[in-house]
Amino acid sequence: MCAQEAFQKILVVDDEKVNLDVLAGLLKNDYRVVLAKDGQQALHRLEQAPLPDLILLDVMMPGMDGYQVCKHIKSNPLTRNIPVIFITALAEEKSQISGFDVGAVDYIIKPFSAPIVLARVRNQLEMKRRGDLLEELAIRDALTGIANRRRFDQFLAYEWERSQRYQRPFSLLLVDVDHFKLYNDHYGHGEGDHCLRQVAEAIARAMPRSIDLACRYGGEEFACLLPETSSPGATKVAERILNHVRALAIPHQASLVENHVTVSIGVATLLPKADMAMKKLVELADQNLYQAKHQGRNRVVCGKEESL
Ligand code: GH3
Ligand code: MG
Ligand code: MG
Repeated sequence: MCAQEAFQKILVVDDEKVNLDVLAGLLKNDYRVVLAKDGQQALHRLEQAPLPDLILLDVMMPGMDGYQVCKHIKSNPLTRNIPVIFITALAEEKSQISGFDVGAVDYIIKPFSAPIVLARVRNQLEMKRRGDLLEELAIRDALTGIANRRRFDQFLAYEWERSQRYQRPFSLLLVDVDHFKLYNDHYGHGEGDHCLRQVAEAIARAMPRSIDLACRYGGEEFACLLPETSSPGATKVAERILNHVRALAIPHQASLVENHVTVSIGVATLLPKADMAMKKLVELADQNLYQAKHQGRNRVVCGKEESL
């Protein structure tokens, strides 16, 4: 067993305790196993982090049956990517097809062979691990290692909808490095890249809340998404970023502002109404960033909180 597998988590769902015991006994040496005795409990377990990497699901259970549970799992964007294997005594072709129709990746018929269950579980977990890795690469900026524009778009869409539904304020910071063209011209593109990495790291350090997201928005511009954050809170984060970047004290002899690297930040906060388009938030932050540049750079400009 490789070290990686030891950390993969499997949720086993079955209404018969003896089945749970057998499967737990089979898997517990190689994986972290969590048990649920019915569909309700399984869905409840899926509300707790970390999510499992694989679900072994019985079909016949009182209350919600396995097909219904699987449909729930596949309709929730947060759990959709977790592979589901049915383990059931229902051997007919139509039961198996129903299982695949609701989104299962495999179907194991009881009584099962332990080595074959282990082999199928191992295969699915390996595919899950590769899928996770690809997904991770797809949302990460290669230069700085923080989230990329693609992740920004996903996160904004998801959090914007949540803010609308729960009527919570939502803030965005656009952070742009001052006179960065002059930096590249003076120090060379390689040093420019190194500078962007340090700035990205300083921004991420200034945002300790796990629900916030820092990303590279493009070129020498970064974006910070702060759900559930009103104007004063967002301003505080922006000031902290400004100070963290200043504290890096990266020399910038060609800058027209200071003799070290600085940033300008536009802050926008909205309490989104139901019909408001999310591009409004980006436009407001962009306008404030423009103002920050116009007023002399190396500063934060915040609009007043709007709910329009
Ligand atoms: P301002 O203070 O108005 O923002 O001026 P600026 O020079 O920073 O802005 P401008 O948009 O004119 O130039 C941005 C520069 O950022 C130009 C571009 O070559 C550089 N840049 C964008 N992406 C990268 C990158 O990945 N690496 C490096 N080294 N430079 C980059
Ligand atoms: Mg710039
Ligand atoms: Mg720019």
